[in-house]
Amino acid sequence: MNILFASSEIFPHAKSGGLADVADSLPTSLAEFENITKIMPLYGFMKKDDLNLEFSDEIILGGIYYKLSFYKKVEDNIATYFVNAPLLSDTQDLYGDRYGDYANNDLRFGIFCKAIVLLAQKLNVDLLHLNDWHTALSALYIKEEKLKIKTVFTIHNLAYQGIFEQSSLEKLSINQKYFNIDGLEFYGNINFLKAGVAYSDAVTTVSPTYAKEILTKEFGCGLDGFLKYHKNKLSGILNGINTTIFNPKNDENLYFKYDFKRLENKLENKKAFLKKSTLKNSKIPLFVMITRLVEQKGIDLVIKSLKKLLAKRVNFLILGEGNLEITKKLKKMAKEYRNFEFIDTYDEVLSHKTYAAADFLLMPSKFEPCGLNQMIAMRYGTLPIVHKVGGLKDSVADGVNGLVFKKETKKDLLLAIDKALKLKKNSKKFNKIRKLNMQKDLSFTKSALKYIEIYKKILL
Ligand code: ADP
Repeated sequence: MNILFASSEIFPHAKSGGLADVADSLPTSLAEFENITKIMPLYGFMKKDDLNLEFSDEIILGGIYYKLSFYKKVEDNIATYFVNAPLLSDTQDLYGDRYGDYANNDLRFGIFCKAIVLLAQKLNVDLLHLNDWHTALSALYIKEEKLKIKTVFTIHNLAYQGIFEQSSLEKLSINQKYFNIDGLEFYGNINFLKAGVAYSDAVTTVSPTYAKEILTKEFGCGLDGFLKYHKNKLSGILNGINTTIFNPKNDENLYFKYDFKRLENKLENKKAFLKKSTLKNSKIPLFVMITRLVEQKGIDLVIKSLKKLLAKRVNFLILGEGNLEITKKLKKMAKEYRNFEFIDTYDEVLSHKTYAAADFLLMPSKFEPCGLNQMIAMRYGTLPIVHKVGGLKDSVADGVNGLVFKKETKKDLLLAIDKALKLKKNSKKFNKIRKLNMQKDLSFTKSALKYIEIYKKILL
């Protein structure tokens, strides 16, 4: 089976969150069984030095010619194509800057979707695996051009849909006939994600619980009715992580490497980490969050609970970047409390050090399609404390491999922290859980096989 896997971000080339991780680790696992190629944009901030220009071509959108250059790189026997195109590649970030999303994202990602279809034809693939709204229009273009390529569309986060004004239709050369309630029309606007759902042969999302949640008003982001209509082609497959990159046994980013047999080295990481931190006492439990600072991640609840949380004998650290309002509040609180540190950045290396140093990772997300942090934490012997929602519910069992709280309230969050502190005191039990977590199979292999089942079903 010949598959083209399309994503707007792929680790390590460009990353804004978990999508990039999945777009790296899922194809790696799929490649053990099938022939897979990846495609992503070549953004302005990426280097071209080690890429080969494979071919160039042209597309017309809205009557305008765009020249596309396809660069290629082969790593671990998997080829990735990087699309260089006007508008798409002109930016210094993926989707926007501190002032908001780029105004021409409709056209930028419309061009990307056309480029995906062009490469799919050129490579003669059987199947196109599309990910999130940035790739969704490819399904529509395939339908419009009556190509014999099957499509799977994966929703990594329903909260991001790619909504633009109706006038974008013309710029994107989309026939008016698709602008209806069963197509990409959404309250008078166009919705890229909706096109992906409507015109793909199968739709998946990243955990079984989230697949059910998005059919409800609470989590459906305005598309619950539409998704219910397409329920028969929808399924949920839990993400895995790249267990080579996230492996404390070989992780060059750590002060000290360790595994479940050498847990004492985890404590050495904590000590070395705290030496460079404003937090000092390594004897008290270290709670951390490693996150994009957006409402989804439950930061409001953390801010509301912070005073009471910090009154306990704990250290708490947030490594995160994002929303300016949240950033301001966290900075202010870090000045007030000696046992709270806020590191306002996105830093891959520091994130590995933080996973290794921490005792507990907090994930009070309001909703969480899958979440990778909790799995990465387990791999580093750090216990996740999560809100029982989406993929967090599917990957963490209370008292078994972490702590789970049911309601997104201050009371439940603080109770979970108390439970964590109690558990930490019982070092025999605490270490047993940590060691089991570190040996757990968190790789993508099992889930990759589930994707292959879907591919086979639609190719029949
Ligand atoms: P989302 O995709 O919603 O951001 P996920 O849990 O699926 O959430 O994935 C988050 C990924 O981004 C993880 O690999 C996590 O370690 C990483 N990450 C998040 N925030 C930061 C940060 N400030 N610095 C470094 N890595 C981060």
